Amino acid sequence: MKVAIVSEGPTDEATVRALAEAVLSEPIETVKPAIRRSPGIDKLLELLPLIYKSLYYGWQADGLIVVVDSNASAIHAATTADDCGQGDCRLCLARRALRNAAGAVDQTAGRKPLHWAVGLAVPAIEAWCLCAPDNNVSENTWIQGMEAGQKPYTRRELKRRLYGPQPWPEGHTVHAIQAAMETVTDNVALLLSKFPVGFGALRSDLSQWGA
Ligand SMILES: [Zn+2]
Repeated sequence: MKVAIVSEGPTDEATVRALAEAVLSEPIETVKPAIRRSPGIDKLLELLPLIYKSLYYGWQADGLIVVVDSNASAIHAATTADDCGQGDCRLCLARRALRNAAGAVDQTAGRKPLHWAVGLAVPAIEAWCLCAPDNNVSENTWIQGMEAGQKPYTRRELKRRLYGPQPWPEGHTVHAIQAAMETVTDNVALLLSKFPVGFGALRSDLSQWGA
């Protein structure tokens, strides 16, 4: 299956790919969207409809996976509605962009809309990589800390835990991600229990792809 992955950096994309393969139980071939974007969540959200359309009309991919970091923004609230109602929920913002894009394509060419899936990494994708039974890295820890007015950890700390002290030699971060993913993808249930909202959303979307 050909899949485009849009996230916040190349190491993030390696993580998302490993997780998607674990959930889909099949290898995926990643394709690069033709549209290049500058960094930043606002730009990413703005360009999602264009990325979707270029993949669709270019027959480039079967699916599109988007994973965004929450940083300090609102964490998606579980609801039966399409939108959780928090204006800065990045999961809902990305979903809305893709839903609108999928609804707007002209299907007269006989092509079905692309599969798509959205995940929210709380607060950043390094947290997923660090998922283990014996540490405090979880959505719950993050949400409780933010409610108490203090981040339980920063992204910089998560990176240090994952990659070790800087400087990181060439290829080090990719190897660290690969090693972490071997453990995490063996235990998707643990990842789901620690990140039920943001990873749960991604898994739920991906599980519809075969339907
Ligand atoms: Zn939401």
